[in-house]
Amino acid sequence: MKKISILGSTGSIGTQTLDIVAHNPERYKVVGLSAGSNVDLLLRQAKQFKPSIVSLATKQDAEAAKLHLPAGTRVVYGEEGLIEVAAETDADTVVTAIVGSRGLPATLAAIDAGKTIGLANKETLVTAGHIVTERAKQRKVSILPIDSEHSAIFQCLNGESRQAIKQITLTASGGSFRDRTREELEGVTVAEALNHPNWSMGAKITIDSATMVNKGLEVIEAKWLFDVTYDQIEVLIHPESIIHSYVEFADHSIIAQLGLPDMRVPIQYALTYPDRYPTPTGRLRLADIGKLHFREMDFDRYPCLRLAFECGRAGQSAPAVFNAANEVAVARFLNGEITFLDIERVLETVVSRHEAADMLDLNMIEEVDSWARRLAQTV
Ligand code: NDP
Repeated sequence: MKKISILGSTGSIGTQTLDIVAHNPERYKVVGLSAGSNVDLLLRQAKQFKPSIVSLATKQDAEAAKLHLPAGTRVVYGEEGLIEVAAETDADTVVTAIVGSRGLPATLAAIDAGKTIGLANKETLVTAGHIVTERAKQRKVSILPIDSEHSAIFQCLNGESRQAIKQITLTASGGSFRDRTREELEGVTVAEALNHPNWSMGAKITIDSATMVNKGLEVIEAKWLFDVTYDQIEVLIHPESIIHSYVEFADHSIIAQLGLPDMRVPIQYALTYPDRYPTPTGRLRLADIGKLHFREMDFDRYPCLRLAFECGRAGQSAPAVFNAANEVAVARFLNGEITFLDIERVLETVVSRHEAADMLDLNMIEEVDSWARRLAQTV
């Protein structure tokens, strides 16, 4: 039986991970759960899955939760609590389903403790890909992607030589506003931006999909996960989200991974790799779909994706700055402080004022991350 801990169990990826566990109780045991502020849902999850440790963001919420949990359940909080859930259990796999670069210390702690990582929290790889991948290599820890595009690439590369990769193509649905011109983006509302056509996801990633920042983060994530250059990564608009991504090899063969858009497939594959088991998801019938569509990425329509490529290529501290500025800009948009188009303005301003520094350690990352967040709050 595989033991798992989930960082961010109350979110979109976290709840879908628990759905897989609920469908396969003989295969998985949940040993740790962590949430931010959704105490009620965490309590329901703890009652159903009986983890030995749970964590919440604040001490106050942790104390309130404790009153409703069995005496044997350890209740912790804050960043240290998150680290305990990540590293101080007998979990085999830690699913990183927390949102934002705040997941970085706990992800590193899980790697140090030798846990297999089921990685959804792409912001950690964008912020500190060199440290996370190097640490995982040293500790001989596997990082198994949960992001559907990266899971697809990972599956396409099964048994293939990395040297034979010619190009990786990440497909993009185009997000909530894919059929609108830039002029039509003036004055769009938060509710409209949150209405993704294909995927039901957390608020931050849904906004990131509409700005195409999400694909930019995924490009940087792919660079670290698959050890390819930015010239080897392409993004293609594919509105149906049926081909989750594909790889072209040296001989011009292309291997793609297809399925209905349902995150439970890549989540389960990260839990069962290299084995496959039935999932509670629907089956893809291509004859029912009939046609699939593709179009070239338009970088003028989606300038944030161009910026992500530029930051990725600049390397050093630039991706961390891009990510931190974006986290703040999205939060400001969701709070009604700035408009949708202001998100890219904030990103461009913060990135343009940053001089990429050689970023070797975590302290330095923390410094540039805080600098970018402060600036993104005010421009
Ligand atoms: P959600 O917003 O749905 O969930 C985020 C989770 O993080 C929640 O459990 C939330 O807790 C928790 N959290 C927030 N703040 C804190 C905090 N301060 N301390 C501890 N926990 C906290 O996000 P998603 O599930 O959509 O995304 C999670 C990650 O997975 C992101 O990095 C995203 O990019 C990635 N991803 C998501 C996909 C999807 O389909 N949703 C697809 C591919 C990748 P609470 O709600 O209790 O506050």
